Amino acid sequence: MLTGGGNQMNVKQRAIGILPRKAAISLLAMVPFLFLGAMDGHASPAAKLGAYPSKPSSGGGYVSPWALVKEPTSGQTEVIGGAAYGCIAGAKDLPETGKGYVTIRRERNRHYGHPETVKMIKDIGAELASRTDQLMMIGDMAQPRGGRMESMHRSHQNGMDVDIWFTLASSPKAANLLAPEGNDPPTMLTEDRAGISKRWGEDQLFLLKTAAQRPDVDRIFVNFAIKNALCKSVEGDRSWLGKVRPWWGHDAHFHIRLKCPAGSPECKQQPATPKGDGCGYEVASWMKKPKIILKKSDKPAPPPPLGPARCVALLKKGKGTNDGGVQTAAK
Ligand SMILES: [Zn+2]
Repeated sequence: MLTGGGNQMNVKQRAIGILPRKAAISLLAMVPFLFLGAMDGHASPAAKLGAYPSKPSSGGGYVSPWALVKEPTSGQTEVIGGAAYGCIAGAKDLPETGKGYVTIRRERNRHYGHPETVKMIKDIGAELASRTDQLMMIGDMAQPRGGRMESMHRSHQNGMDVDIWFTLASSPKAANLLAPEGNDPPTMLTEDRAGISKRWGEDQLFLLKTAAQRPDVDRIFVNFAIKNALCKSVEGDRSWLGKVRPWWGHDAHFHIRLKCPAGSPECKQQPATPKGDGCGYEVASWMKKPKIILKKSDKPAPPPPLGPARCVALLKKGKGTNDGGVQTAAK
């Protein structure tokens, strides 16, 4: 996920509080451009921080037809398109809780994905359970048929993306108390956002490393200050660090993207991450960027395209019937 809807009201004050006023204003002016340039195929800061309303159908903003579809299609699973322009047929539902994990904010109905995504979460949960009784909290995956969400994300469209919070929960009940809608778990960064805080520990490192070492994982997005801290501290095998990509936000959660699965010829695979641990010039250049939380754009964005033609057909499948098509679900 991208930063939850929670702290949006304070973002402007926080950004301006950290930066000199002039710098903050010029940075805020950049937001529309950042929004257009979804580098690495991932959501831009503007999208993350709620270019769209945080609550579906809250009025006044973009209403995604994809959010109106309540059920996946039945039949064969197939991923169509990419993370930021795609959809998924035959998506599977991640159970609410399992060994080592709990899903939060189920009411968003974003707990669907490819069976490989579901399996990956269960596998990592089981590995976490072998070292602690604490649970990882699973945030947004994809909508029942994928597609564009109304808030927070530009990606998460084709069932191969999942957000996992860095903060662990002692039980499913504790998870829902800790992270109700509008109240995100805490950042892992220090006050100046230049490094990791005392909240960071072995469990967080374990989660990232376990995910990055999986062959089915394509890349993982974390805040650039987290990547920088890993670059400075990880000893021994550093080969997995290359998949851990520096990005905006992602300081309270990380975002795993899986590779295109077998049996989905129209899944659009991103170019491979650069060779090596990614700890040289790239991280250094990120560390020169302002350490801020970007403000959401005030201007309503134009409605995004629905996706590839096959996705548009998938969206309409079951229209007027009882199988979860958009018209039925919108009643
Ligand atoms: Zn995400």
